[in-house]
Parts: sequence; C-alpha cells; structure tokens
Amino acid sequence: MRLKISLTGLIQGVGFRPFIHRLASEMSLAGYVQNDSSGVTIETEGNKASLDAFLLRIERDKPELAKIYTLQFSFLNHTGFCGFEIRPSAEGTKKITPVLPDIAICAECQSEIESPDDRRSGYAFTNCTNCGPRYTIITEIPYDRPNTTMAEFNMCAACEKEYTDPDDRRFHAQPIACPECGPDLSLFSIAGKLICKDKEALAKISHIILQGGIIAVKGLGGFHLLCDATNEDAVTDLRKKKKRDEKPMAVMFPSIEGIKKTFNIDALHEQILCSTAKPVLLLGRKPSNILAPSVSLDNDSVGVFLPYTPLHHLLLKILNRPVVATSANLTDEPIIMGDDEAFAGLREIASHILTHERKIQRRCDDSVVKLIAGKMVPFRRSRGFAPVPIPLAFSLPAPVLALGSQMNCTVALGIEDRVYISQHIGDIDSTQTEAFYEETVNDLLKLFNTTPDIVISDMHPGYYSTRYGERYFKEKLNKVQHHYAHILSCMAENSLGNDREVIGIAFDGTGHGTDGTIWGSEIMTASYKGFIRKFHLLPFQLPGGDMAIKDPRRTAFSLLYSAFKKDAQNRAGDLLSAKEQIFLTEMLNKNIRSPLTSSMGRLFDGIAFILGLRRQVSYNAQAAILLEQQAARAVTTEYYDFNLRGEIIDHLPIIRGVVNDRDSGIQICTISRKFHNSIALIIRDTAKLIREETGIKEVVLSGGVFQNAELLLMTLNLLQDSGFKPLVHQLVPPNDGGLSLGQVVSSLGFINST
Ligand code: ZN
Ligand code: ZN
Ligand code: FE
Repeated sequence: MRLKISLTGLIQGVGFRPFIHRLASEMSLAGYVQNDSSGVTIETEGNKASLDAFLLRIERDKPELAKIYTLQFSFLNHTGFCGFEIRPSAEGTKKITPVLPDIAICAECQSEIESPDDRRSGYAFTNCTNCGPRYTIITEIPYDRPNTTMAEFNMCAACEKEYTDPDDRRFHAQPIACPECGPDLSLFSIAGKLICKDKEALAKISHIILQGGIIAVKGLGGFHLLCDATNEDAVTDLRKKKKRDEKPMAVMFPSIEGIKKTFNIDALHEQILCSTAKPVLLLGRKPSNILAPSVSLDNDSVGVFLPYTPLHHLLLKILNRPVVATSANLTDEPIIMGDDEAFAGLREIASHILTHERKIQRRCDDSVVKLIAGKMVPFRRSRGFAPVPIPLAFSLPAPVLALGSQMNCTVALGIEDRVYISQHIGDIDSTQTEAFYEETVNDLLKLFNTTPDIVISDMHPGYYSTRYGERYFKEKLNKVQHHYAHILSCMAENSLGNDREVIGIAFDGTGHGTDGTIWGSEIMTASYKGFIRKFHLLPFQLPGGDMAIKDPRRTAFSLLYSAFKKDAQNRAGDLLSAKEQIFLTEMLNKNIRSPLTSSMGRLFDGIAFILGLRRQVSYNAQAAILLEQQAARAVTTEYYDFNLRGEIIDHLPIIRGVVNDRDSGIQICTISRKFHNSIALIIRDTAKLIREETGIKEVVLSGGVFQNAELLLMTLNLLQDSGFKPLVHQLVPPNDGGLSLGQVVSSLGFINST
C-alpha cells in the first residue's frame, strides 16, 4: 500500500525532512518527502503493518523543534516508488495564508496548568504556539492578535516578554494569556446571577455535576451540555430536557486509561484519540462498564473523546469520571456560541452556565470519526480539521465555490490545488441553520480573500443551498448530480489525477436524479468530466414521500408490496395495523403521492423494519445502524439471490429471501449478515461487468451507506479478492459532509464543456 501524509505545523527548517528520510530508510520504505505551501507532504509504500508503525513513529520520534499541528493521512494504491528521496519544494502554488484549525492543548501547557507553582497553574486559557484556539478566534487574516477575538485583552508584561522572545515557546502565540491579563471563568445561574469565578467556579460546577445536575460550558467552537456519564438519572434527565430520544451522546473521558477500561482499543485508536484534532471516536463498549445505559440505549456504539482545552482538562481532573459532553443546541438549530443565546436557549435544560470573555468567532462542532478496516473514516469533519485544505493531484483553473447539500452540509472553496472545506453546518432545517449557512459561505470567501469564478450546487430544486446559489450566484452557477459529486469527492481525496476514470458506487439515502426521481444506488463509470449511470436498484415507491423517510414502516410495506403483491398484508406481521395496510395498499396501487426511488439507504431502512428491529426512528439512519450491528454478530457467507437485468438490479428476490427466513425463524443477525453479503455481491458483480466492458479496475465507494462498517469490510474483501482496487474515504465523510469537495472538482467538467 501507499501511505500519503499531509502535515501542517512548525515542520519546515527544523530538520523534519531529513528525519523522515532517516526513518523511512531505517524501515526500508520507499517514497518521498516534500515541503509545500501548507506544510509537508510524505508518500511512502510498504505493507500495512510497517506503514502503521511509520505513522506512529513520526509523532513519537520527530525532531525536538518540530511541532505538528495537524496530520492527515490516507492509504492509497501502490504506485511503485524506488528508494526514498527528499524532493525539492513544490513550486507554482501561490502562497495562501494558512488558517489553522483549533489545536488541542499540548503536553507542556498541560503540565503547566497542573503544576502548583507555575504562574498558569489552574488557568483555563493557557496556550502556546503549539496549541490553542485558531479557527474559532480568527476575525480576519493575517493571523495576528489584533485579528483575533483576543484583541480586546492587553498583554501583561510577563506575557509580552514571552510573546516577543524568539526562544520562548510562546513567541508570537497569538492567543497568549495568563491569569493576570487573560479571560476569566465565570459561573452564572441560568437566570444570569454571577455565582463565583475561576478555580472556585470549577469546584462548584464539579459539585453540581456530581450531584446529577446539567450545566452548560463554553468550549472552543460553542457550548456543551455536561452531565455525569455514570449517573443514569442525570443522563435520562438530559435526554428528556434536550428532547434527544435515543441518539447516542458523546462522552469525554479524563484520560486514555479510562477509555481503555471501558472500550477495546488498539494503537491506532489511541493515536486518533490523542491526536491534535482530538475528534470524537465511535467505539463499541465492553459488555460491562461504568457508563450509564442511557448514554447509548439500543445502539452499541458510543462516541468517545479526550479533553482538548485546558478548561476541559481542569474540570475532568476534578471530576475524575467520564461526562456526557453533547453540543448545546436546540432541535434543528446550530450549536450555541454566544452567552445571550445560551442564557435564553438553555433555560429549560441547564441549571448553570460556565462561561468566559473570550468570544467565539465562528461555531465549530466536535468532529466524529470511526476506524474501519484500519482507516480513519470521518463521519463529521469539523473542529480540529477545518479549514485544513484537502490537497488535489491537479490544479483548478479558477477559484470554485461549492455550496454543498441539505443534510450534514459543508461548503468548500477550491483554490489551485487545495480545497478548503468549512466546518460542519449540519442539516439545514431551520432559519437559524440557514443563517449559519449564509454566515459560513461569506466567512470562507472573506477568510481566503477570494471571489469564485465558478459556483457549484446540487441539482435538487428543494435544497436551501441550491436556492441560495440561484439567488446569489445565478450567472456563475452550475449544478452537479448528487451521487456523481459523492464519487468525485472520494476520487479527489484519493489524489486521483484529472485524467482518471473509475467505477463509482454511490449508495446513500436520497439525491435528486437527472431524471427527476430520487436516486441513491448509483453504480457508474466516472471521471472528473462526467459520468455514465450503469446500474441501479429497481425503483420502488415511497408512499407519502418524505413521510416514508420519517416513518420507514411505509418504506417496509412498499418493499413487501413490490415483492409479494396481494400477499404483502399477510407478510407484514404486526408492522402496521390492518387499517394502515389497507390505506397504504391503496396509495401504492393508485400511485397516490408515492414517488419512485432507487435509494439503497431506504432499502436498508425497510429491511430493518421488516425484521422488526424498530417500530419508529428517532434519528437519522437509526434503523440501518441497528441492522449493521446485527450483521456484526453473525458469521456466514450465505446470501440472497438478486437479478441483473440491463441496468436494473432486481432486489425483489432479496426481500422474499429475507421475509422467508424471518418467517421460518432464522436468527435476525444471520438474516442481516446474509443481506449485507448480498449487497456486497451486487457491488462485486456489477463492477465485474463494467470491468469486462471498460477494463477499469479502480472502484470508488462513497455515500452515507458506506458508513456501515460491515458492508464496507465485506465489499473491500470481495473487491480485493476479485482483483479490483477499491478506494474509500479517509479525509472527508462518505455522507453529504464530503459532497462539497466533489462539487469543487466537478468544475473541471463544466470548464471543459464551456
Ligand atoms: Zn501549548
Ligand atoms: Zn499575561
Ligand atoms: Fe448523499
């Protein structure tokens, strides 16, 4: 395999490239290291185990003066390097002032706040050039103190001395602060009464949390709601008040040791948890552990992370136990970042608010990742990653703005061979999120001081982002098909050159097709210039359209109806009442408000409901996640038959097989495993047909359905066994959070066609 690493930080002129050269040579790895405008790029080849070891040793053995702010890596296909070389610095790329992401507190700052004699002992805003807030405090470029939200604090003499001393760790650390001159912590009652400050405030909120209370804490990119993760009553109370029925909640642990006791983790998990981005990592919990059951209810998987600001460290150290740390937001609204918003919005939820005077310039939610097949797959790329650029294998001819999607939205700006993706905006379901969206587009253009020549949106006429593009960028706007953009995003992050053609598998929930129907199971050939849809699921009806997405019982019944016709009502079990079944049969029969879809996400929903895993859903993809977790419990290579007819994948035999197995008492986990196997086989078989016709061997997997680890692992195995080269997401999410990257590179097709 080939490992590609992009690093930012203090890594130029500190002996970093010679170090990489020595390390690679010692480990007999071939490849190169190169300086470029945003940092250092390394590519190296070897087997997976030695590449993993190489990755771990970069951080561990790096030169003393080198400081790594961010490290992005992906495993790519082998190209055949010969020896290891230090390449001359990349030229031709215009120097873009880098805007750094927020960086978790470094070891040195941590030891200072923990040491009783240090002048920053117990100080919650300690930072240095190696750590601290960046993206969330910058008001404009260049990144200097007057251009941050720290501008209003005047440095004291001691801080000034550190700031101006080239030998000091805080030389030009823009957010530099100390208890003398920097922000203070203030604890308020939710009614707005100041209770106490600083160390006293930390002690007081710890006490409230230990008593089972819920408090709001101002973090880096917004407020969190915190409660004791080991206290079932507290967690249940938080769920009820936040109106968050079942979706698992993220848990912050005081230390990596605590995580090890509760979850089975390996060296790569540990590296991700301890990295400078400190993302939320999704893990399956050990059978018996200290977490309250309500943290994740029916779902096996819990998001876990470590403290990333001095404030979190100080607090968790006192608490000495895991806390639920969930974004403070109201249903459908973005994360709260201002004090006024917090006091008004969290009235019914938190009893107290811990805040401070350092203003948050832009909202930034925690990032969420999962380790699948030894690769870090982002589910949400936000704090700690945004706005680190994604490097492209080619240069864009003009600046491009991509407007993203509707769900899990991000926007992106492409300049030359870099794509700057915004933080997570979320689902655009409220006027507040619409405002956040607009803010983020304008912010990105301002921050990188760019006017786009080309603007790209999705094709869906109902998306807020599409309408936004039509309104503000009409003459520059081009629209790109949703699933094609998914494939392009995965091609781009895998550094595929602009002459490449691949087999693309885009499986997701919904996307607007070029024929006006709802797509979601696209198997295509694709290049940056265009795509040809080769296969897709047999379209089925969604009775009630969006209502069927919210109530997958409708989707399940539609699938049963298409597979069994008149017998569907006998096969539905207790899925629906008799009255509901008659009503839905009527809708399907007469085709009343029942749009056609070929969505793979809907098929997963429907199967989960046919198997009785859920009666309703309370969060996105819930049913499909439970189906995935069932599959993980069974081992079998059996599968259900399917037919390929022309471009149609006929999945009706799969549904009949699932229902027959269910009715003859086969275990649900076995049925789910067989179902997953069938979908992976559909991918392999159709890819083979396309390979026979075109000779293409590279298969790109994208779309939200590929967050399903069971499906992804099975698919990777089958494709590799058949001689394909599968490519997956490691830098941007497979879901719509990655769409803006694909939209940016789709501009190549529009430029060539005009
Ligand atoms: Zn530091
Ligand atoms: Zn100071
Ligand atoms: Fe999508």
